[in-house]
Amino acid sequence: MFDTKMLSSDEGSIIEAVRLLKNGEVVGIPTETVYGLGANALDESAVRKIFKAKGRPADNPLIVHICDMEMIKPLVTHIPELAYRCAENFWAGPLTMILPKADIIPDVTSGGLDTVGIRMPSHKTAKEVIKKCGFPIAAPSANLSGSPSPTTAEHVLNDMNGRIPAIINGGFSAVGVESTVISFENDAIRILRPGFISAEDLSEITQNIIIDKGVVEKVSNRSVVRSPGMKYKHYAPKADITIIDSSLEAFKAYIAKHKTQDCVCMAFDESDCDGLGVKTVCYGNTDEQQAHLLFDKLRELDVIGAKKVYARCPNKKGVGLAVYNRLLRAAAFQVVTLE
Ligand code: AMP
Ligand code: MG
Repeated sequence: MFDTKMLSSDEGSIIEAVRLLKNGEVVGIPTETVYGLGANALDESAVRKIFKAKGRPADNPLIVHICDMEMIKPLVTHIPELAYRCAENFWAGPLTMILPKADIIPDVTSGGLDTVGIRMPSHKTAKEVIKKCGFPIAAPSANLSGSPSPTTAEHVLNDMNGRIPAIINGGFSAVGVESTVISFENDAIRILRPGFISAEDLSEITQNIIIDKGVVEKVSNRSVVRSPGMKYKHYAPKADITIIDSSLEAFKAYIAKHKTQDCVCMAFDESDCDGLGVKTVCYGNTDEQQAHLLFDKLRELDVIGAKKVYARCPNKKGVGLAVYNRLLRAAAFQVVTLE
């Protein structure tokens, strides 16, 4: 086995990463959402390497990353008016738009769909890499399929060592959860995957916002879904997680009753578990902090060998909905709701 090279994000490192990408290789790239496993979106054999490195099912499409509005034109056959307005308001940033794909996008990139997800990241290094490559970069999250998404270069190395030639280290991802994925229906915006750009943010563009039911409901592995990634087990550490949807008092009472010697509480704050005598992993007090920390803390559960985890339930509005959507999948939809 070979070792994956950890590059910094200085000029020389970016040139090396760009050389690899131009040669049809896969590189771990920092973005403001999570780290991506990038390859030339228009090169079928390069894109196949992404699926192989991740162990990703072939029908789960990749997001195609661009650095300016010129780059999107040849990739899609039509851009609705609403999409232009979303681009104006939220690009560069953590928003992916599903648009009808042009033939130039290989089927392997779009998971066999006739649409393609496009995003313009705001992370300086990601933008520079795409610009220097001169082609769009397909990039899913840089984790092994099923694991929590990586928010640091070390997370990527843990999953990808010996599977890809290099990773660019760009520090801790600021947002921490993947992009909001939306599609357009007549004059409505449908949220397929919630993210940092919230339903409330999108309502500046139109009041007609539909939150797809797959966002908070389990979709069957066999069913045809609008956003294929939603049907797979996702983001999961080895531990068995149960979300406790309740007030802090009810959460504490539940833990006091059900705790075992080695259970772990995934709390907002240390003080949530005062007096309970249980191991605690904290993921923050605000929606934004929780988004930033969630995947890092899910990985920490594996590091400490957690087996049974009780998690406090995030907000189901704003950025909190993105956190809830990821935690639900990490918990395989196990939720205890208390008054
Ligand atoms: P990841 O790259 O791991 O952040 O996952 C990207 C997710 O975006 C996929 O799993 C899909 O759910 C969604 N996605 C990407 N392209 C499309 C598309 N053409 N249509 C619907 N959903 C898409
Ligand atoms: Mg992913």
